[in-house]
Amino acid sequence: MKKLLSLLLITILTLPVIQAQNRDYWQQHVDYTMQIDVDAENHQYSGEQTLVYTNNSPHTLDRVYYHLYFNAFQPESMMDIRSRTIVDPDRRVGDRIYNLSEDEIGYQKVRSLTQNGRAVNYETDGTVLVVDLNEPIGPGEKATFEMEWDAQVPLQIRRSGWNNAEGVEFSMSQWYPKMAEYDFQGWHPNEYVGREFHAPFGNFDVKITIDQDYVLGGTGILQNPNQIGYGYEEEGARVDRPNGDKMTWHFKAENVIDFFWGADPDFKHVTAQVPNGPKLHFLYQQPAVVEGASDEANAQYTENWEQLVDYTIGAFEYANENFGEYPYPQYTNLQGGDGGMEYPMGTLITGGRSLVSLVGVMVHEMYHSWYQNVLATNESLLEWMDEGFTSFASSETMAHLFDRDGNVHAGSYRSYNYIVQSGDEEPLITHADHYNTNSAYGVAAYSKGAVFLNQLEYIIGKEDFRNGMLRYHQTWKLKHPTALDFINIMEQESGLILDWYYEYFVQTTKTIDYGIESVVGDENKTVAKLERNELMPMPLDIVVEYTNGEKELFYLPLRMMRGEKPNETDMNRTVLKDWTWVEPTYNLVINKPASQVKSITIDPSQRLADINTENNSFDVASMLSE
Ligand SMILES: [Zn+2]
Repeated sequence: MKKLLSLLLITILTLPVIQAQNRDYWQQHVDYTMQIDVDAENHQYSGEQTLVYTNNSPHTLDRVYYHLYFNAFQPESMMDIRSRTIVDPDRRVGDRIYNLSEDEIGYQKVRSLTQNGRAVNYETDGTVLVVDLNEPIGPGEKATFEMEWDAQVPLQIRRSGWNNAEGVEFSMSQWYPKMAEYDFQGWHPNEYVGREFHAPFGNFDVKITIDQDYVLGGTGILQNPNQIGYGYEEEGARVDRPNGDKMTWHFKAENVIDFFWGADPDFKHVTAQVPNGPKLHFLYQQPAVVEGASDEANAQYTENWEQLVDYTIGAFEYANENFGEYPYPQYTNLQGGDGGMEYPMGTLITGGRSLVSLVGVMVHEMYHSWYQNVLATNESLLEWMDEGFTSFASSETMAHLFDRDGNVHAGSYRSYNYIVQSGDEEPLITHADHYNTNSAYGVAAYSKGAVFLNQLEYIIGKEDFRNGMLRYHQTWKLKHPTALDFINIMEQESGLILDWYYEYFVQTTKTIDYGIESVVGDENKTVAKLERNELMPMPLDIVVEYTNGEKELFYLPLRMMRGEKPNETDMNRTVLKDWTWVEPTYNLVINKPASQVKSITIDPSQRLADINTENNSFDVASMLSE
């Protein structure tokens, strides 16, 4: 009986625990060891990779997928066809892939692949390698994959490649066979059409053998600096290079979602230290040799890179304080690529720019170390949490670095408004690859994503918003948060219900337009008739200015938020009866005669993404004088 009872107890006690575990957060883990031998002259390399894959999911896997991104740079690839058929192609791509010759295309050809020492069946399907496993990988189990492959680096077209427009020899991103992500939504083996990425966290141990005159930098921390030199050596150390034409750079990186590198014989290498932060590396062409630029312009570009050092330190200090601490010991600004592209612990950015533009692209890419590399959202599905959050933080940081004031996010609101008016807007839940146009993707991801945050600050108030951003970082760093995880953090921080905000602003293209339809008054009171002209509801801040110069803030809560934000201003605030989403109009009663009211303004902070602001303020004084 006792035994039965304890058995029963165990069952009762463990059942809910098991259920909770099923809902528990988990993430996959990868450990890569790679050796690469580069034939720099022919832009090819051969590689060996050992990948230990840990299945932390509660599911059994009988297949795995790798990305073979370089295969996109071949005529008739999906990326090529997409670029030649979309109505507004990226000018960097256009039909350039279609016109690549045999020695300019990119490829990754798998020569052999084993799982736990036994050959497996695999098939290359464009940019994806499909692997049917010998033995399934059960929950909590590891599998070791060993691969040999040959690769040709494409002529620089998009992000990675050789010989970019600024003469950088190798921009090496998306360069190795990379395990796709498996998460609570299943596998994500997206074909590469030139857009976003998603990958498991893991450790990288990478050895790159290349001609001795190349200077390298990238994600990894150099393990043999005194053998390499080029400014990596320890202070006072004697650089001891091996004999022969080539040497091997040994890098390691821990707990990152990707690994990039760049190489050029003309790189200048400079380092700097962020106080209480990472060591910074800068690698850039010296002298600058930007295609089509005058000698004078090139001289300026070189100087800009020198100035970039202090701006990068300033940006990191600002970011650490406002958006959570950068968790890695190193960060590298490396000249390369075709604009700016983020990778863990560094970026590829082009340098043929004004100082402000160079700092701007550096800041933007740096923030991807917060939004996507550390808070590793699935950027294919949540492109706005990647580019939008980054744009938001970048605008604030640029304002800080260059002493700008005013509405620093105004540009994002303008772009959002533009796409709304064009009729081409698509909801933020659209997969990044699947937007109809590049411009609809760009505005959704970068602009509406930034507006999402700045408007959220309006909804819950500055202080809870700022604390919420830090809490989000603290809670989700080095994990894969979803949009609802973010909303949940903001609900906890503010105590307000926010599911409606996600539903309207992310899942739909419904818009906001509040207006003041009319104002009537007598000796005792003034009544403003407010109207909601579009479908998305919002809580409202309304500022009334009186003829004596005083201002009063009226707050109209949205009932479904079940509360109100704190007063963010120095003004006296009156909280009125809430405006429910079913009511198209609302009468705002001001207990002062109309003759004492000068003007009434909806959201003077301009954080509300109101698509028609012409009806947002009402000049009562001029109405009375008519
Ligand atoms: Zn970006």
